[in-house]
Amino acid sequence: MPELPEVEVLARHLRCRLRGKVIQKVVVCRNKVLAGISESTFKRWLGGSQFVGLSRRGKYLLFSLRRARNGRPFQMLGHLGMTGRMYLAEPDKPRPRHTAVMLGLGRLNFIFEDTRYFGRLTLDTKPLKALGPEPLADDFCPHQFRAALSRSRQAVKVKIMDQRLVAGVGNIYASEALFRARINPRKPARCLTDLEARRLWKAIRQVLAEATERGSTIPLDFAGERNADRLFYFGGAGARAGSYKERLRVYDRAGQPCLRCRSPIQRVVQALRSTFYCPNCQR
Ligand SMILES: [Zn+2]
Repeated sequence: MPELPEVEVLARHLRCRLRGKVIQKVVVCRNKVLAGISESTFKRWLGGSQFVGLSRRGKYLLFSLRRARNGRPFQMLGHLGMTGRMYLAEPDKPRPRHTAVMLGLGRLNFIFEDTRYFGRLTLDTKPLKALGPEPLADDFCPHQFRAALSRSRQAVKVKIMDQRLVAGVGNIYASEALFRARINPRKPARCLTDLEARRLWKAIRQVLAEATERGSTIPLDFAGERNADRLFYFGGAGARAGSYKERLRVYDRAGQPCLRCRSPIQRVVQALRSTFYCPNCQR
């Protein structure tokens, strides 16, 4: 599943390629992804509009556009959900089977493809209001983070995935950050010491920054044609074994030796999601 680093890398990849492009054609194949915006409204706003910018907020892509008629700026929100991918393709290629939305940009098509349709491409930007601070920005304050943890009875792994606490920490990097901070994922958030909370705050920033860095420096196949799992760059099946192992120290490594102490990595289920950790390093 794409998380913050994957979305950041995608935003950087698409930003310069989309800038200045005018939407000449809008095809909606699955209106579920419009999240309540009607197909006719979506088409009316997008048709003839120009892409002027692209940023990321948490795991959301925020497209800035300008309307054809009056030049008025507006925003479109994108989310990859579990299996979504957004990329540019040659217009003469057949439209992929799971295309949710296609935007014709002249010599290229913007494709939003999603096999499970949990992703979003919508004019409804309300979900942004519920997001906490951006983990890599200065407004992610260690003191506020610590205070929020101390008020929560939830397991720390579950709590750090709360998007109101900090935006964009998902299942994979939650496990990775807790391993790096040497904190047991099942420990109640309010039982963390000041030192542990500080280590975790730092670890969240480090794992996200490093993954973004790595994603920015390796050649990626955004259309994912060579990736068996159909995710745009991160994933088990299609990824080269070496790069995958290097990237993730505990996630999806149940039974394999801890890279720090050689104890077998364990998998537990928390809030219906898999958590991976080293019982020896993360007591
Ligand atoms: Zn260990």
